Amino acid sequence: MQTGKLIVLTGPSGVGKGTLVRLLLARHPELYLSISATTRSPRPGEIDEKDYYFVSKEQFEQMIREKKLLEWAEYAGNYYGTPRQKVEEQLASGHSVVLEIEVVGARKIKETFPQALRIFILPPSVSELERRLKRRGKDSEDAIACRLEQAKEELAASHEFDRQIVNDDLETALAEIEAAIFT
Ligand code: 5GP
Repeated sequence: MQTGKLIVLTGPSGVGKGTLVRLLLARHPELYLSISATTRSPRPGEIDEKDYYFVSKEQFEQMIREKKLLEWAEYAGNYYGTPRQKVEEQLASGHSVVLEIEVVGARKIKETFPQALRIFILPPSVSELERRLKRRGKDSEDAIACRLEQAKEELAASHEFDRQIVNDDLETALAEIEAAIFT
């Protein structure tokens, strides 16, 4: 059986990666979305083992030591990482796997999975990104300021990725992602 494709969607927080991934999976239920581990506290409505594996710092560091993560990064004061086993099982059984991760981790994937398709999602502008972060109302003002600073650095790295797709119009961005994956 042919192995599946590893598809990485990355880009700054607030750019709409989550929305794009949800739409992509709704249209292509054969894709497997990896569930990340994080030390961040759950936001209201988030469910353990569905949105993330919410773990302690000690548990996360143990996962790093035991090489249970395909990649990991520290982002806005918390750890985030991709559990290795499920991803490798899905790929081996022929299913394509989607990772929705931040930029440092997406860079690391190139070392472990050089054949991965790595797509960078860009906002139409930094000011639009700021508006989106404020509008979604998930984070405090401090957290938004921190994410915006980080976003500026992340945007400077966009050229390192296989594709750059601007999320101005959702349907257009989604069509471009589908074209990158399926053609
Ligand atoms: P949030 O706290 O908003 O859920 O996520 C913050 C950032 O961490 C987002 O850019 C998200 O894509 C990224 N992220 C989520 N899971 C992972 C992961 O497993 N690895 C890495 N490197 N980043 C992740």
